[in-house]
Amino acid sequence: MKRCIALLLAALICLSGCGKQKNPEPKGKSYFTYFDTVSYVFSYAGDSDKAFDANCAAASETLGRYHRLFDIYHEYADMNNLCTLNRLAGESVPLEDELLAFLQEAKDMYTLTNGQMNVMLGSVLRLWHEAREAASADPAAAYVPSDEQLREAARHTGIDLLEIDPEAGTARIRDPEAAIDVGAFGKGYAVERAAEALRARGADGYVLNIGGNIRAIGTRPDGSGWSTGIRDPLEPEGAFALHICIADVACVSSGVYERYFTAAGTRYHHIIDPDSLYPADCYASITVLAGDSGLADALSTALFCMDYEESSALVASLEGVEACWIFPDGSVRSSPGFAALIEEANEP
Ligand code: AMP
Ligand code: MG
Repeated sequence: MKRCIALLLAALICLSGCGKQKNPEPKGKSYFTYFDTVSYVFSYAGDSDKAFDANCAAASETLGRYHRLFDIYHEYADMNNLCTLNRLAGESVPLEDELLAFLQEAKDMYTLTNGQMNVMLGSVLRLWHEAREAASADPAAAYVPSDEQLREAARHTGIDLLEIDPEAGTARIRDPEAAIDVGAFGKGYAVERAAEALRARGADGYVLNIGGNIRAIGTRPDGSGWSTGIRDPLEPEGAFALHICIADVACVSSGVYERYFTAAGTRYHHIIDPDSLYPADCYASITVLAGDSGLADALSTALFCMDYEESSALVASLEGVEACWIFPDGSVRSSPGFAALIEEANEP
């Protein structure tokens, strides 16, 4: 409980207001149950405890449902989920409408990102996941998947291996060696559905923070936004690299500081370039702002796998999307709309 309150306070401090006017005291709730991370719901709207609790229940129910639908490690008695779809690869599997809609959007994101965010990369990601687990169990036994293993796995990663039949209400992974992994897109998509659930209840002036995947709903009552810190990818436990002021937008980062392991003195992080099949090495982190948290999540991973020219051109081509690239040497580049939101270091 103490840890819970400390985390809540830390998260609240990271989300202080950008404006100077007096706003009602924020309310916050945290959860440890979804997407293997800490989730927070904050209200700055001055709503009653009862209204806040009911809104939290709606957000948490949505997150819980998508957590179970997207789980690739466990199945649940009351639904076919992505774990079922992987296990039954080769067969048509009846799926919930929400899951079918999600899979279609995942395919659309593949197209939008020129294949750099590919949810059918599962066979390759599994090799990296196993290597990470082995290193975590025994650092001395750390290894890197071989070129041969990676190339063989990559033969089973075509996006067309995922077939969706909306009429029949089924999906099928055509190749039994292929697998789906929605780690790059699922959390952001679920956060957007939770934001939708809140908006449908009339909630405004709310912030969801699901493992650093931030969704601001509306503004604070005085019309100002929230100051949020972007982690320094080279020193993730240290001071923030920069602060930006956000309102009514999703803010998602991908970085080398998450889920990595070390083998023979080299660090291997979790964002895999679909072309090289190895961790993408152009950036230390990328942060994306977009009006849809699913889009921001898909892009944060995809942009990471493109050189800067392609990455920045894709951002420039998308209405309402902004990004910030932090390079391995610590240098920072931002799209114009992102740069406009950066707060001066000496502002409160
Ligand atoms: P994120 O933190 O949003 O960048 O997502 C990273 C996670 O997405 C990894 O842990 C993998 O599960 C998965 N992933 C890594 N690289 C890719 C990629 N190029 N396309 C799709 N999923 C990926
Ligand atoms: Mg992502």
